[in-house]
Amino acid sequence: MTAEPVATRWLTAEQLGPHFDDGGPVVLIESHEVFRRRPTHRQKAHLYVSALRHRARQLDDRVELVESSSYADALGARGLRGDRLEVVGATSWAMRALVERLGATVLPDRGFVTSRDDFAAWAEGRKPSQLVMDRFYRFVREESGILMEGSAPAGGQFSFDADNRERPPKGAATLGLPAPWAPEEDDIDAEVRATLDALEADGVRFLGSDGPRQFAATREEALAALDDFIEVRLGDFGPFEDAMLAGDSVMAHSRLSVPLNLGLLHPLEVVERVVAEYAAGRAPLNSVEGLVRQLIGWREWVWHLYWHLGPDYTTSNNALDARTPLPASWWAFDSAVIADEVEAACLSSVLTDVAQRGWAHHIPRLMVLGNHALQRGYDPVELTRWFQGAFVDGTPWVMPANVVGMSQWADGGVVATKPYASGGAYIQRMSDYCGSCRFDPKKRVGEDACPFTAGYWAFLDRVEPSIRGNHRMAQPLAGLRRLADRDQLVAQERARTRY
Ligand code: SF4
Repeated sequence: MTAEPVATRWLTAEQLGPHFDDGGPVVLIESHEVFRRRPTHRQKAHLYVSALRHRARQLDDRVELVESSSYADALGARGLRGDRLEVVGATSWAMRALVERLGATVLPDRGFVTSRDDFAAWAEGRKPSQLVMDRFYRFVREESGILMEGSAPAGGQFSFDADNRERPPKGAATLGLPAPWAPEEDDIDAEVRATLDALEADGVRFLGSDGPRQFAATREEALAALDDFIEVRLGDFGPFEDAMLAGDSVMAHSRLSVPLNLGLLHPLEVVERVVAEYAAGRAPLNSVEGLVRQLIGWREWVWHLYWHLGPDYTTSNNALDARTPLPASWWAFDSAVIADEVEAACLSSVLTDVAQRGWAHHIPRLMVLGNHALQRGYDPVELTRWFQGAFVDGTPWVMPANVVGMSQWADGGVVATKPYASGGAYIQRMSDYCGSCRFDPKKRVGEDACPFTAGYWAFLDRVEPSIRGNHRMAQPLAGLRRLADRDQLVAQERARTRY
């Protein structure tokens, strides 16, 4: 009798927590080639390589950490194919194609609360326009019993979003919370820094600046970051979820998307921890529900949409015919270049934050970066590449629905019911950016016309034929038609070269 071959499990950099490991042999692949092919933030590259090497040290003699320019070559050189290779789901369409080609055993996904079958059952029979996040979130709450009291949602409603839109405290530069948890770098981080320095010397161009590692690279660090968030920030998270402060980019946000997307935490354990805080009376429901919605609503929904919408979703959608290349300041990612080219205080502040840290919370992403890109018609494929490379939590699956669908409405209404465009009034209400800006958020024409306010109307003027049939845009378009200075405003914005 011949013994069954023992399958080696290939774990990716998104599968580094204990729930992806069953005790057998493991292969981890560190590919530097990806940094040549795709522009990546230096701190993101550091985090990923550091996390892989830390996991390799923990798994010790059960793991082989391979450095290779190609995943296929690394697996092929070790004879890892067919029943000798197994993976825990696939984390991208490219990985799925590779493991199918190799005939690997594909185990069910483990990094999410809901399965592909759960999503398929929910989506069956629904029109594309009915695949909305709120309904999916409600389905997950009801099926899982999370934050449910019998058949009713805790507190009598599924969403407390309306309670989570407080403005930042007036006159305060920060929310006044202690600095967020940060790891202490170790010998592995020093080696990673040397590796990345050598790659730069060899011509690899990273985005953004290097800096001390800010995010968890190990399970222990991820748990420490979770503890810290619950203790220090959870209470303020809900009310100030949408607020922005130039001097406090983190505010009360958890930044747990980073260890979650490395697989160091399971979303359900985070949900259980914050729900327990509510049950014990230590955290308000609007904060807890807001985080639960981000995790079992938005994050799960975006994951399933990635597969549901297919491998060509990003490249085959451009409903608003957006063709403008991203400006140099976005790719340069250099504080001096940003300061020189970008005058809008909000845009300059957020771009600088991302250059320096590789992270900003969801409102600067959507209402400053995404809003500006939408108004100016930046190419959605290039923009998706940018978001994926620039943000430390930017996995291949997370950005398509977020950028192409939600932020840019390039799919014509599959992910979002209307384009997420807004003028400077929103930014003025929800941030302190406008106070130090040379533009006036109330002005739409003139030398100090706010590029967001004027850009909003110029955007509506440009895309009017494409959105005329959208009933949610009827009111804004009626407003556009009433503008006495429409032609002047449109000419001004067409000529604008600095923002
Ligand atoms: Fe941004 Fe306009 Fe406010 Fe300046 S005035 S910070 S450009 S919204």
